[in-house]
Amino acid sequence: MPLLQIAEPGQSAAPHRHRLAAGIDLGTTNSLVACVRGSVAETLADAQGRHLLPSVVRFSATAPPLVGHAARDTAAADPLNTIASAKRLIGRGLADVHRLGGHLPYCFVDTDSAVPRIRTAGGDLTPVEVSAEVLKTLARRAEDSLGGPLTGVVITVPAYFDDAQRQATKDAATLAGLKVLRLLSEPTAAAVAYGLDRRDTGDEEGVHAIYDLGGGTFDISILRLTRGVFEVLAAGGDSALGGDDLDRAVAHWVIEQAGIGADNDPGTLRRLMQVACAAKERLSQEPSAELQLDLPDGRHWSGTLDRATFNALIDPLIGRTLTACRRALRDARVSTADIDAVVLVGGSTRVPLVRERVAELFGRAPLGDIDPDRVVAIGAAIQADLLAGNRPGDDLLLLDVIPLSLGIETMGGLVEPLIPRNTTLPAARYQEFTTFKDGQTAMAIHVLQGERDLVADCRSLARFELRGIPPMIAGAARIRVTFEIDADGLLRVSAAEQTSGVSARVEVKPSYGLSDGEIESMLRASLEHAGEDLAARRLHEQRLDGERVREALRSALARDGEALLDTAERARIDQALARFEATLTSTEAGMIQYAIGALERTCAFYVERRMNRTIHAAMAGRRVVEFVHPEQSS
Ligand code: ADP
Ligand code: MG
Repeated sequence: MPLLQIAEPGQSAAPHRHRLAAGIDLGTTNSLVACVRGSVAETLADAQGRHLLPSVVRFSATAPPLVGHAARDTAAADPLNTIASAKRLIGRGLADVHRLGGHLPYCFVDTDSAVPRIRTAGGDLTPVEVSAEVLKTLARRAEDSLGGPLTGVVITVPAYFDDAQRQATKDAATLAGLKVLRLLSEPTAAAVAYGLDRRDTGDEEGVHAIYDLGGGTFDISILRLTRGVFEVLAAGGDSALGGDDLDRAVAHWVIEQAGIGADNDPGTLRRLMQVACAAKERLSQEPSAELQLDLPDGRHWSGTLDRATFNALIDPLIGRTLTACRRALRDARVSTADIDAVVLVGGSTRVPLVRERVAELFGRAPLGDIDPDRVVAIGAAIQADLLAGNRPGDDLLLLDVIPLSLGIETMGGLVEPLIPRNTTLPAARYQEFTTFKDGQTAMAIHVLQGERDLVADCRSLARFELRGIPPMIAGAARIRVTFEIDADGLLRVSAAEQTSGVSARVEVKPSYGLSDGEIESMLRASLEHAGEDLAARRLHEQRLDGERVREALRSALARDGEALLDTAERARIDQALARFEATLTSTEAGMIQYAIGALERTCAFYVERRMNRTIHAAMAGRRVVEFVHPEQSS
């Protein structure tokens, strides 16, 4: 969470100059960058006038990575070195990857490391590094187009992304040399793009449904806007359902029609998928589509797919999205009659059957006049502009929810949820546990995310140990485990034995995420390859950035450090600040940037407290119990 955000209104650095900030929709299939110019948010095109950048990277041993159309268009010729849909893998463990494996024609490196690595001619790469290439390309496009370096970016993630996936997305930005002002959920960004926050509904409150069917993910979010505050009432969906699955449905049809046996040649598979995808897209405009395919045995196949047949193929998939919509409505405790607007997001919402079925479910025509491909990037740009401090006096706060429940392992392999899904962020909750053996002096804490009761069915996020518990009889120790999640949805867990005051704290680094050391060495490696000029410019910018962060923290501490921090917390922050100041003299921009991140992580709890206060102020007169610390809510 950027310290920038905690500057109080009216106290931001003067004199004011427009800070260059961009919104990035880092999509599974396509990515976009947008920014606000002359108070209009627009997506930025490349030199050929194309706005969408395919999220595809082709690696080679001799040249820098190729990103976008060129990589996508040559994928069939070089399938093993061309990585598409890295977002499906980001922040995931090897086990998840093996589950998805059937669809992925890559060569995974067999290692003991929990993070999957893909073997390419350009080296063994993690999904984080692949995404970093996409981000770099978009950032360069924005800087060329805006004529200067970016102060920061807002990157969107599916509402359904768990902690590990969010953290990995941030890591990719770090590798790309970008400062993340905020991770924003895609549906929230779409609502901002449509100005639903500024809409005059008469009663100052609106409930909106955002239906996002992209290439690789489906998200449904129910948002409520009350007096300038967005709340995500419910977030649901399926992180493994999208246009790719519609392509696969068509591809299976082709396999049947053409009588092709199951064949594992990655090149043919790619060609088949391309043919299927093109037919699907044509069917959005036309009643039927012709398909042609060269088969590996030298045969040539052609056929015609009409819309009725296509609709029958994809209907079960659309049905799954509608089931998720009904569930989200239930979670949000609203009925379709309570929905004021339905927004369509994602390229797949161009499919006529999708529009029909969504309209049918909600009983109204959905909004779709902003290009469904661009709407998320546009919303992110508006938010980035705001967070960069370019819209003084505008203090729209976006409140998000956690998509999946967070809990810890208890006896018998069961999960005790601490923060239920759909809790508004930022949030903090605690619960007390006790020892079960006489004289027990240590307790293992296993943090999990998911909706299931059994540990085995949930995602393991982290493990740590609380040691030094004074020996007592079983059941006498009182161990308070506290979960705190910041506005980006990132989690910190601490545990303290209440009678002795022994405590332990972890920043949840997911078990299968990248370690700080790995990021640092990747950062070093990427810096070694960067040009000298670029490095010098980055160094200058990072120093300025670092100085700004230092000043922001110093002045925050002077204003309310005493009121909000106890002595130990204050000491921890002072220590971190001293370490940070030492790093500011480093000649490596990456190190400074990394140090900024580290300082922000250390201070996150403090920032969150300050933010909670701001939220209290913004929501004066409303019930706030749901999102304050438990000790304040009793
Ligand atoms: P993501 O958010 O996953 O990156 P996008 O929102 O860019 O995805 O959507 C990409 C998906 O939209 C792809 O599956 C693509 O085939 C599909 N798509 C794009 N245009 C059309 C169209 N005209 N008809 C049907 N599907 C389309
Ligand atoms: Mg998308």
